[in-house]
Amino acid sequence: MSETEAKGTLVGEGKLIVFSAPSGSGKTTIVRHLLEQEKLNLEFSISCTSREPRGTEESGKDYYFISLAEFKQHIKHDDFLEWEEVYRDNFYGTLKAEVERIWAMGKHVIFDIDVVGGLRIKKKFPKETLAVFVKPPSVDELKIRLKKRKTETEEKINMRIAKASVELATAPQFDHIILNDDLEKALDEAVGLVDEFVNGGEGKVLEEE
Ligand code: 5GP
Repeated sequence: MSETEAKGTLVGEGKLIVFSAPSGSGKTTIVRHLLEQEKLNLEFSISCTSREPRGTEESGKDYYFISLAEFKQHIKHDDFLEWEEVYRDNFYGTLKAEVERIWAMGKHVIFDIDVVGGLRIKKKFPKETLAVFVKPPSVDELKIRLKKRKTETEEKINMRIAKASVELATAPQFDHIILNDDLEKALDEAVGLVDEFVNGGEGKVLEEE
């Protein structure tokens, strides 16, 4: 899929909904809620990752869990729409084939990806993409949430916190910022934004760097 082909396929058809946020901001909960809303006609973009599955995560549902070697093969073959080494030796990426799979279903694609990947998609498809940043109430609150999750070591939590401060600075580049200090409110706001976008609205075009 070349970028031109991809754009040709998208115009007047599928839209791309990006939810990005520091890890622990609650974006996964928001994305799951959006997927339950039939009127939004969304399908989750399953990313590839080289990290190990956590808890009840399943390959082909939460992620495609692949080896680092396989991931590097995909990079070599230019199979990714975007990819990122999000944390040291943990690679994450969206396969072009994944987006094609969802377009073929006649659905809009929703992404739960990091800010760099999210903004990359927004830049590639400015009009077709709604990019939303989910903001945690504070970095301290983020730390509390990550600790509660009990899925990461202290070192990994600290890495995620350090990354969060950098990510927070990119928030103004997104179409919308949702402050997740009250989950119910954040969920309603997210549904409203996506509904307007997929059923009539248009994303803003980012300024060239
Ligand atoms: P986690 O390990 O907590 O599942 O994800 C770590 C970070 O990687 C999160 O911010 C998540 O949104 C991001 N991520 C997941 N999939 C992708 C992807 O395909 N591309 C990029 N750039 N980031 C991703």
